[in-house]
Amino acid sequence: MRKKIVAGNWKMHKNATQTAELLNELKAQVSTKNNAQVIVAPTFVNLALATSLLEGTSIQVSAQNMHQAASGAYTGEITADMLKSVGVNTVILGHSERRAIFHETDALIASKVDAALQNDMTVIFCFGEELKDRQSKNHFNIVENQLKDGLFHLQAKDWEKIVLAYEPVWAIGTGETASPEQAQEMHEFIRETVRKAYGSDIAEDVSILYGGSVKPDNAKEIFSKPDVDGGLIGGAALNSKDFLAIVNAI
Ligand code: PEP
Repeated sequence: MRKKIVAGNWKMHKNATQTAELLNELKAQVSTKNNAQVIVAPTFVNLALATSLLEGTSIQVSAQNMHQAASGAYTGEITADMLKSVGVNTVILGHSERRAIFHETDALIASKVDAALQNDMTVIFCFGEELKDRQSKNHFNIVENQLKDGLFHLQAKDWEKIVLAYEPVWAIGTGETASPEQAQEMHEFIRETVRKAYGSDIAEDVSILYGGSVKPDNAKEIFSKPDVDGGLIGGAALNSKDFLAIVNAI
């Protein structure tokens, strides 16, 4: 069954003390009674701290990235196995900042997806168009191609481990949100694209999160759309009051 999920991408924010503070605040208030699965993605160095602090709670921990190789001379990189060894079973891949700033291509992201799945990890797969694509009315093509190039080599059984996160680049960190109608229109298109490739069961079961300036005051309306199954939250995930308000908006 399709899951509701609210995931916080902390990006390059919060040292160890600040990570513990925020996690303790969340821990005190997130319960299994929440309608959504709550996921937090602190920085690499604080992942072990996070899994140990959150042990026994319903909050899951995700990494923000990983390398595709199993080991090797890749200074500064982290493998799936290293993540698993500190209790991290989920990874965000294909975030627009990785694509734009670190030049990650669809092919590279696809190989990271494969490495994560080989290690039995869940992948939060991010994709979405830039402003110029929407202005030139090319946004559906771009999104379809990112999906195909990143994920459509997978076998049907792999989709149990895939969560989609549609994040229009023009709405990330800009304060500009897609309207609930724009989000629903694209999520419906994404589900239909998955349906054409893999059939109705997989299309109906896959969770499609929306990301891009979700805040406490717009979350409820966005989450009320039938094909929006939750959110990937950046800025508003950095304080417990806003993040919990978004979790409670589901
Ligand atoms: C993100 O980086 O995934 C994101 C959605 O950021 P923000 O909520 O700050 O737009």
